[in-house]
Amino acid sequence: MPVGTRAAVKTLDAADIDALGFPLILANTYHLLLRPGPDLIREAGGLHGFTGFNGNFLTDSGGFQVFSLSKLRKVTSEGVVFRSHLDGAMVELSPEVSIDTQLKLGSDILMVMDECLAYPHPPEAAEPSLRITMDWEKRSLKYFNSHGGPESGSFLFGIVQGGFDRELRQRAASLTAELGFDGYAVGGLSVGEPPALMHELLDLVVPELPESKPRYLMGVGSPLEVVRAVAQGIDLFDCVLPTRLARHAVLLTWKGKLKIRNQVYRSDFLPPDPDCSCPVCKRYSRAYLRYLFHAGEFTGMRLATLHNLAFMSSLMKEIRQAIREERLADLIRKIEVAYGAGNSIHSQHDDAI
Ligand SMILES: [Zn+2]
Repeated sequence: MPVGTRAAVKTLDAADIDALGFPLILANTYHLLLRPGPDLIREAGGLHGFTGFNGNFLTDSGGFQVFSLSKLRKVTSEGVVFRSHLDGAMVELSPEVSIDTQLKLGSDILMVMDECLAYPHPPEAAEPSLRITMDWEKRSLKYFNSHGGPESGSFLFGIVQGGFDRELRQRAASLTAELGFDGYAVGGLSVGEPPALMHELLDLVVPELPESKPRYLMGVGSPLEVVRAVAQGIDLFDCVLPTRLARHAVLLTWKGKLKIRNQVYRSDFLPPDPDCSCPVCKRYSRAYLRYLFHAGEFTGMRLATLHNLAFMSSLMKEIRQAIREERLADLIRKIEVAYGAGNSIHSQHDDAI
């Protein structure tokens, strides 16, 4: 999923996303709750009507941003009260408010509200935090079921938390699976921990989640982390990385990262990635992209974004093909060469601030 934090994938529009072939994008409830507000979006016909995007939307619960962006916040058993980063107003977010907001947004896949711990966290923080998340998950599910969620054709995903405690992570996964969601996310990872620790926890969590339902690793999207997590049983990802790197003139290619501002590309008339068949690589040269960035032309950011998303889309296609042909291990090795030690890039969650 490309990330459209504030109902827009930065520098692109809905027609671009359609053309890239992504069936699903992520939008952030926290940002849309504060501006323009769920009632306006509902009046516009939900996110689909408001943005003109023909595909589907997945919305997060807003919890992650409350914990990562808002300075003043108070967690109670009811939910969380926080100060808006836009105008300082006090705003309340509870599982009920979150689901209600996501229903008004007309989201296709809604996420339960959860509490996300930072990395590292005090060991004693994990258990009480998981209790809050489990309570909020149940309340999210109850509100969704009793307010027309299933009838609206939307789906609700649970989220596995548990911090960085191995035993709690595993327990959180089996408790969440028992609640019976349409899909399962693994949250609270890719928040600054070493990638090896994330993969170790995934190995504990994934076997507890039903194989017949989608499994979604939140906030993860570097090529290497994606391909490794797929091998561990993950189906779905979101990450701001491809679009953010693009705006910083870094291209994702089959040979690794390409920093297009570098002098070496000044008169390089090859396509940005000769192994990529996206419209940008078919039409433009490295020299032109480099020039656009140096000249401060917005078109540079836009072309880089289009290419990076096309790259992620073909990476996922190649992963599916490799699974069918039983050569996923070879593909992982290829991506390790391109994005392994020395070339690594880490995933990130939020794109707004
Ligand atoms: Zn390309």
